Amino acid sequence: MKKSIQWQLITIIVGAIFVSFAAFLAIMRYFMVDDYKQFMQTNDLQTAQILSNHIGQALARPLRREHLIASNPLFMDMPPNQQLALIRQFSLDETTYELFTLLNADGVETVRVVGSLDSFQLRQRLEKLEEFQHISGAYPSPVTGNLIFTLLQRVERDGKLTGTILSDVSLKSIQAFLDDFNEKSTMSAYLIDQYGTAITQPKFLGEGLFNYETMKVTITKMNEDDENTERKDFQAPIGLVRSMQAALRGGSGEMNYRDGENNEFYCIYRPIPIPFTDKHWALVLTHSERTIAVMLNKLFLRALIGGLIILALTIIVVANVSKSLTKPLHKITEMANRIRAGDLSGQLEIQSDNEIGVLAGNINYMIQGLRATRKKSKEAETKIKAIAYHDALTGLPNRTHFLIYLRSMIDKSIQSRFYGALLFIDVDKFKMVNDTYGHAVGDGLLIAFAKRIIDIAGRKEVACRFGGDEFLLFLLGYDANDTRTICEKLVKSMREPFEISGHKFSLSTSVGAALFPKDADNIDDLLERADAALYVSKRSGRDQYNFYVDGMETTPIEDRD
Ligand code: GH3
Ligand code: MG
Repeated sequence: MKKSIQWQLITIIVGAIFVSFAAFLAIMRYFMVDDYKQFMQTNDLQTAQILSNHIGQALARPLRREHLIASNPLFMDMPPNQQLALIRQFSLDETTYELFTLLNADGVETVRVVGSLDSFQLRQRLEKLEEFQHISGAYPSPVTGNLIFTLLQRVERDGKLTGTILSDVSLKSIQAFLDDFNEKSTMSAYLIDQYGTAITQPKFLGEGLFNYETMKVTITKMNEDDENTERKDFQAPIGLVRSMQAALRGGSGEMNYRDGENNEFYCIYRPIPIPFTDKHWALVLTHSERTIAVMLNKLFLRALIGGLIILALTIIVVANVSKSLTKPLHKITEMANRIRAGDLSGQLEIQSDNEIGVLAGNINYMIQGLRATRKKSKEAETKIKAIAYHDALTGLPNRTHFLIYLRSMIDKSIQSRFYGALLFIDVDKFKMVNDTYGHAVGDGLLIAFAKRIIDIAGRKEVACRFGGDEFLLFLLGYDANDTRTICEKLVKSMREPFEISGHKFSLSTSVGAALFPKDADNIDDLLERADAALYVSKRSGRDQYNFYVDGMETTPIEDRD
């Protein structure tokens, strides 16, 4: 497969970015897992602290309020309407109270603020009051269904029981607060009362009142002590239960445990002291280790998407850059192809000072060099042609060149129905000049003779030195009369005296003419017939011209001079 520089560049750069990006992700992940875990745990510890403080305060508020009433020495001496007013004031300030009831020492209800409890339920609760203060476990309110706990407070004077304050404190606000936390946080919060009942826990566990001490779930929403309350077992991870038990005993800490499906959890437990007692509630926060992995994966997914976008942008940028880099190379290739095809007219216009610019400059120099070489060789070719096609002495076309010319003229004439004449011209007794005046004078005479032929013909190209003292002249478009005129001119012109190297002498010439296409329609025959006519001129005494007549070439040789 052909691989362009552009694609090689893209592959190298994109590959390098991809590999380094993958390596970066891998290294980051390797080093980040522990750091991120650590960070999450520190965060979790802070969260646990904030939550337990908040819940502790929410729990302590009603307890302190009620304690204030119970410890007021004048309270039991107040008339019932004043007691009611005072209690109302408290319950208005503190909206968590669902029921506020005052009973005298005989257990008779003297003041009630809201709600209704039948005497059986009241008695049941009062039976619990063995100590100065009793706080019940969480249970659903028979009136509203909300989870509540009951506070029972003995009112004593001089160590003697004078009455009891009973109030139902709603856990609604604490529940709502923790439910909200469970929904928004990646952690799960469990709040357990002093008997192990879940005040709140993650929603996915379902409906019902879970007790992590007894490991039973209350199906019907009734008082926890009600015999009719239906219960069934449930399973909570042992680690979770243990952390709850530790917190209920007042311990705090953190631990890792696994659930039934072997998922690992990180858990923080904190005790929430119940004021005026040595009892505690337990707050347990759990964090699935998978959550950390999921968070990390989210982080890496974002980094990956970001990286891929960068990669895509890189491809676009590299494609453009490499295109601009390879564009000059394409131009150079194009120029090389033109040079190969023989076209030296162009010039590369790449103006950059990089390696490609230098290469382009050198190619331009090469083109200039090739142009100079071509010019020289053309001149040499012209010279060679001149030498090859012309007679060195007279400058007239030589026989080879003339025959080519004659062939093309005859071809043209045939196509265009032209006519013409071929004259064979031979100097009479030329040998004598050589013998008498020397070869150099002979040469001079041949040059002068050729000049007279050119003067009469008007053009150089139509004449040729056939060899020795023989010349040919082709007259295109000349009929017999025109030809005759030229022949007469030739014969007459040659009679004029020549002066060569101080020697003056007169000569004559003989001419043989053959008409085209009348006498012959091809070169060979035309030459032969003009030659035959020339010999007739020679034989008839020279210094004359003759036209070919049929049969002339068959005249026996010996009859010729
Ligand atoms: P004729 O009338 O029959 O033509 O007699 P001629 O003496 O001219 O005889 P011919 O044409 O056969 O001889 C041509 C002579 O031209 C022969 C040769 O010595 C001479 N000659 C041929 N080439 C050259 C040349 O280049 N220079 C010179 N000076 N003489 C040449
Ligand atoms: Mg001759």
